[in-house]
Amino acid sequence: MSNAKYTNPETILLHAGYRRDPTTKAVALPIYQTTSFQFDSTEHAANLFALKELGNIYTRIMNPTADALEQRVAALEGGVAGLAVASGQAATMFSVMNLCQAGDNIVSSTDLYGGTWNLFANTLKQFGVECRFVDPADPENFRRATDAKTRCYYAETLPNPKLNVFPIKEVADIGRSLGVPLIMDNTAAPVLCQPIKHGAAVVMHSTTKWIGGHGTSIGGVVVDGGNFDWEAHAERFPLLNTPDPSYHGAVWTQAVKPLGPIAYIIRMRVTLLRDVGAAMSPFNAFMFVQGLETLALRMRAHNENALRVAAWLARQPGITKVIHPSLQTGEMKRRADAYLKGGYGSLIGFELEGGVEAGKRFIDALNMVYHVANIGDARSLAIHPASTTHSQLSAEEQAASGVTPGYVRLSIGIEHIDDILADLDQALAAARGGARKAAE
Ligand code: PLP
Repeated sequence: MSNAKYTNPETILLHAGYRRDPTTKAVALPIYQTTSFQFDSTEHAANLFALKELGNIYTRIMNPTADALEQRVAALEGGVAGLAVASGQAATMFSVMNLCQAGDNIVSSTDLYGGTWNLFANTLKQFGVECRFVDPADPENFRRATDAKTRCYYAETLPNPKLNVFPIKEVADIGRSLGVPLIMDNTAAPVLCQPIKHGAAVVMHSTTKWIGGHGTSIGGVVVDGGNFDWEAHAERFPLLNTPDPSYHGAVWTQAVKPLGPIAYIIRMRVTLLRDVGAAMSPFNAFMFVQGLETLALRMRAHNENALRVAAWLARQPGITKVIHPSLQTGEMKRRADAYLKGGYGSLIGFELEGGVEAGKRFIDALNMVYHVANIGDARSLAIHPASTTHSQLSAEEQAASGVTPGYVRLSIGIEHIDDILADLDQALAAARGGARKAAE
């Protein structure tokens, strides 16, 4: 089924990439729980290995259940092809290491998920790749940090805790003028934003979050926009433009030309995924396709609830600040309105007047909202970063990452709004009650 057939996300999410099982005619996507696929003949096997023909070989490299997921996420994002991997972290690592060798650098936004920050600041360094972190408040910071060894830019569409939407087109344009592709982590804004339409070359998702939607499975997908001319900047991308010794000297931009503009994602599959092995299990791929089918509907409910919660929090005593794109002003609101369509996402941050102790009391008093280190579940979730995810950082480091002592992060689910507000209301009362007691 052609990904170009449908343009509306609601329809793409139900129909792109899979129609029925070719053998049994099953309408629900089968879980192809198999390691290997039998070859028709030695010639067939040789053609598959030589990429003269595309087909299934071994589930570490490709699998029909994962293929349906890859096609569907690629269609949602307006890209040409996708690759499913074991986690969002693996997707980020692959998206960058598909372009980098020791001695190269990448330029990343400072507004990042903590796991990605660690990967870029520490693990990439182990491989001789430098990450230059720049403040996205001024897109020109990306240009200033770029040199001949810069292989890509990296950013998140809707990064928490600040929830400042990234200037996608502004930075993608700078990158294109210098021959540098922009890779976007669109985990927190599926359906709401399609970064490829704004000039990004690659999009990745932690499918663990909103795409899965039910908190059951860890996974990631990388989507190739098919819109970046790797050949035109051959000196910047030797991995795509010079013979690959691990594949009989294949030059990826040439070798896959007959198949379309998919050099980037094919190389990732047949070298990185082959060698590193961070494959997604067919069962998880099935779970993510199930999630995708109702994603548009869930995003609408997430957005509506979050909008109500943000406005309600802004009216409550004992809260010094509420962070949600709907409440922003100036350039940040302009960016939110330019890049998010149909809602402002379901992440909300707020600061309790009572600091760390109030934050802990708030979390401990929650009844319905789960206290977990996750986002994007259909259930409402909360965490107090100063006493959990960011507790190893100094007060200065916490402040630099946007985490103040009384900061609480919410990921608003799709429960009835009255039940969400009731739980938050009683937990806020508990947080304030403690503050009064402390003052007495
Ligand atoms: N990107 C973002 C924005 C995330 O929030 C996370 C996880 O929290 C990741 C990437 C990493 O994804 P995973 O946990 O699936 O490895």
